[in-house]
Amino acid sequence: MEFRYYMPVKTFFGRNCIEKNSGEFLLLGKKALIVTGKSSAEKNGSLADVKRILGKVKIPYAHYNRIKPNPSVENVREAALFAKESGADFIIGIGGGSPLDAAKAIAVLAVNDIDDDTLFGGVYSRKPLPVAAIPTTAGTGSEVTPYSILTYNKISNKKSIGSDAIFPAAAFLDPAYTTTLSSETTVNTAVDALSHAIEGYLSAKATDVINPYAIESIRLIGECIPELKADKIKDEVREKLLYASMLAGIVIAHAGTTAVHAMGYPLTYHRNIDHGRANGLLLYHYLKFLEPSIIKVKHITDAIGMKNVDEFGKSIEKLLGEKEIITEEELVLFTKTAMAAKNISNTVPQPEEKDVRKIFEDSFKR
Ligand code: NAP
Ligand code: FE
Repeated sequence: MEFRYYMPVKTFFGRNCIEKNSGEFLLLGKKALIVTGKSSAEKNGSLADVKRILGKVKIPYAHYNRIKPNPSVENVREAALFAKESGADFIIGIGGGSPLDAAKAIAVLAVNDIDDDTLFGGVYSRKPLPVAAIPTTAGTGSEVTPYSILTYNKISNKKSIGSDAIFPAAAFLDPAYTTTLSSETTVNTAVDALSHAIEGYLSAKATDVINPYAIESIRLIGECIPELKADKIKDEVREKLLYASMLAGIVIAHAGTTAVHAMGYPLTYHRNIDHGRANGLLLYHYLKFLEPSIIKVKHITDAIGMKNVDEFGKSIEKLLGEKEIITEEELVLFTKTAMAAKNISNTVPQPEEKDVRKIFEDSFKR
């Protein structure tokens, strides 16, 4: 047996977990920069809670609320300038994966005057500012990962920073903040978490420590699938989804993602298909590709409570609705882009270009 296990995020889970552990902010610094998207943190109550609790522990703060979905390098550079001017010495990211990933990159750029290559290189001469992560979607697991995924216009794709230096110092997971999610974002983010657990479990870097986390995450999301399209999702389902997405985050923190994420990035960059949805649409035919040679695929369908990959594929297709059409030109471009991505090499067995093209072809309408 051989593995590396590293999970340095002090993690709190449960209703009102920020209020109950407000002293944690005092360990992170003296002035906070709160980083959010445009409006969801106001609507779900998380922003008001954080401001009130910072007031209680007498920590002053500034607020940057211009993080866009799939944040770009330009977006985080602008925010880092704001961080510097504000004099903040720690960052609180609140939101989905976009503000959380942005918070990590801002924490680097606020104290390091570096070019894009060094930013993506993950080795920094000054230690990034500490980050507290408060997820309000149940999908990315970014609160427990060493990744920040940014839209990088220079390469016309998304690109990932992977560095132990950007693990959040603390994570606060309160399922109450996810109750305002639309049905569409609930489904897309749940499918993203499922994709992390599945890809991590199948990754070349999977380990004995994280495999049980992956199977448990898959099992829990499997239990939630029939509930995802309910008009009002029960609190216990929201809680299960947030927990499962965190487990899946711990999985990819160690095992990384594979072909599905590599193939999903160009779909988001060029076609603006939501990150979780893009992965979800690819999962079925990715598993079909692996099924003949990889016994672990059977563990996945067992854990999710389905007979086989076809039953799994049909249930995901039902969740995600009508597939997008992709053109021959896009097929060529997306295949080339996916083959050049770092995480494709974690896929076992290694897909060739023709395999990646076929997964795209089978996953979309032509
Ligand atoms: P997101 O891009 O953070 O947010 C999507 C939308 O949901 C935004 O419009 C946001 O509004 C809204 N929203 C967030 N929380 C809400 C709530 N509680 N109620 C209502 N609306 C809410 O979506 P995401 O899927 O969580 O994150 C996707 C990003 O994470 C991608 O860039 C992806 O590449 C990255 N990712 C990172 C990792 C990692 O390990 N670091 C893993 C997977 C994916 P506002 O803009 O107003 O906030
Ligand atoms: Fe993802």
